[in-house]
Amino acid sequence: MDNCIFCKIIRGEIPSPRVAEGDDWIAIRDINPAAPVHVLVIPRRHVESVDALGDGDGPLAGTLLLAARDVARQEGVAASGYRTVINTGAEGGQTVAHLHVHVIGGRQLTGHGTA
Ligand code: 5GP
Ligand code: ZN
Repeated sequence: MDNCIFCKIIRGEIPSPRVAEGDDWIAIRDINPAAPVHVLVIPRRHVESVDALGDGDGPLAGTLLLAARDVARQEGVAASGYRTVINTGAEGGQTVAHLHVHVIGGRQLTGHGTA
């Protein structure tokens, strides 16, 4: 998508160092971290949200969750614990309309969100 900020990062038009990457996804640090570890796992394909996933996207959805697992291990929070968050749509608090999984950790989290 031409104007999508995450697509621009994936295309390299906006520089953003990758924490990790796979064939179908990249992981970058959140520009406004909510915790010492705050990484976004982003599919290379532009999918707007969980709601935009197709019935055939189960493998992609699973790949993103496994990528989040691996990022958490790499970032050293797998043992202490971490949160994975996916916001969907306006009332879900989604601000970037390209599916992404937040991996948040490194401090005691409360509540349910990214705040
Ligand atoms: P959402 O609110 O859609 O679940 O999460 C979007 C996240 O993307 C926010 O936590 C925000 O800080 C992060 N973000 C927005 N723009 C950029 C950017 O240009 N680079 C990076 N690394 N993160 C961004
Ligand atoms: Zn996009």
